[in-house]
Amino acid sequence: MSKAHRGKPLRETPNSSRGSCPSCKRTGIKVVYDLEVAGAKTKVCKQCKAKAKT
Ligand SMILES: [Zn+2]
Repeated sequence: MSKAHRGKPLRETPNSSRGSCPSCKRTGIKVVYDLEVAGAKTKVCKQCKAKAKT
């Protein structure tokens, strides 16, 4: 398995996976991590993912 959050796979996604994190509202960051919020899958940034999972 390749590193889906680093390097080439990122560049192949639209806008290089950059955007606004729905959780922390920051813009211009990589939003590549899957997080389940209330049963719904969302993409959040690295920091939010780290916060969510202990
Ligand atoms: Zn975030």
